[in-house]
Amino acid sequence: MRRVFRDDHELFRDQVRRFVASEIAPHYTEWEKAGVTPRALWRRAGEEGLLNCAVPEPYGLGGDFGHSAVVIEELARANFLGIGFSIHSDMVAPYLLNFGTGEQKERWLPPMTRGETIGAIALTEPGAGSDLKAVRTRACRDGGHYVLNGQKTFITNGVNAGLAIVLASTDPDQGARGLSLFCVEEGLPGYTKGAALQKIGQHSQDTCELYFDDVRVPADCLLGPGNAAFEILTRELARERLAIALRAAASLEGMLEEAAQYTRDRKVFSRRVIDYQNTRFKLANARAQSTMLRVFLDDCLARQMEGELDPTTAAIAKLNATEIQGRILDDLLQMYGGYGYMAEYGIGRAWADARALRIFGGTSEVMLEIIGRSFN
Ligand SMILES: Cc1cc2nc3c(=O)[nH]c(=O)nc-3n(C[C@H](O)[C@H](O)[C@H](O)COP(=O)(O)OP(=O)(O)OC[C@H]3O[C@@H](n4cnc5c(N)ncnc54)[C@H](O)[C@@H]3O)c2cc1C
Repeated sequence: MRRVFRDDHELFRDQVRRFVASEIAPHYTEWEKAGVTPRALWRRAGEEGLLNCAVPEPYGLGGDFGHSAVVIEELARANFLGIGFSIHSDMVAPYLLNFGTGEQKERWLPPMTRGETIGAIALTEPGAGSDLKAVRTRACRDGGHYVLNGQKTFITNGVNAGLAIVLASTDPDQGARGLSLFCVEEGLPGYTKGAALQKIGQHSQDTCELYFDDVRVPADCLLGPGNAAFEILTRELARERLAIALRAAASLEGMLEEAAQYTRDRKVFSRRVIDYQNTRFKLANARAQSTMLRVFLDDCLARQMEGELDPTTAAIAKLNATEIQGRILDDLLQMYGGYGYMAEYGIGRAWADARALRIFGGTSEVMLEIIGRSFN
């Protein structure tokens, strides 16, 4: 048992594993073909207590980030990187919890905890990804409303989202200091969504574009103070990046076990693939790196649970975890020969799904920039 987790976390892990085995595994291929997970899955996850675990009662389940980590890890270990629970629970919900008014929390957090409302975060635009101060989506105040115009892209959970937290410029002259966040509900006139985007991996994830054409958003849907989005985003980043790092590490561990088993079972030139020294060295290297990564991430997790994880350490965690995952999954896929390239083997899916982790939540280059600043 890892020292960062308590008994209640481990009991919860058993429950999450059962949920993953019974509610996700049998249907996942179907959802990948459909390009979306059914809303019914979210309601089942809500009933089983898998959403908003770290959100305090009465809005959420009253656990801590250790419970969130368990959900993140068990989905990733079982090779279901295309299920968007973490953005919902570890990104959207904390924004509402930490910066929402009492009314906003009351209105959106309980239905999110029950899986009735699905959350998305809409920052990226065609012309603004790493450089978010370049966002063009505009929100202009008009009496009791803000009028929203613009477009977002690559939005995880976008098709299913009943609530999107949208980044928009409220004062273009102020650049990064003139950005605000809005809680935008599905169904408002002028708010439309594109179809799920065709991606090279994470096929069950309903990543899409969102369009805002004179959408009148009630003024009480502004999240936090106006023009303060950058401060809000910055304060939340460490947890979000740790969540991605935890996904990467657990996916790597899950696939390493599978690959080791495959190489025990498969014979080539009358020898098991694992009997070749090259295979054992690759497996050994994977275990050596993933063990070191795990120790570091558990320390980050402990810091996060104590409220002490700093942005530079979180960037180090995301950079290392996702880069190591990418390199090692590539090595593991090679051990499967042609079967590694076939969709029916999990390793191919893991390899393609993992590629996005070095891009979203801040690219590896952006992580290097952040870490580099610690020398200033
Ligand atoms: C599967 C997936 C899901 C996503 N989900 C969401 C979501 O839910 N919500 C959301 O808002 N966004 C989401 N994104 C968007 C994601 O956060 C952006 O793609 C990412 O931030 C990079 O932005 P970009 O694509 O515009 O690339 P760019 O910013 O155009 O980057 C292009 C290249 O320039 C490099 N670069 C950028 N800045 C620097 C620098 N300072 N120094 C050196 N190199 C640099 C980058 O590393 C990259 O290699 C998702 C993306 C994907 C692929």
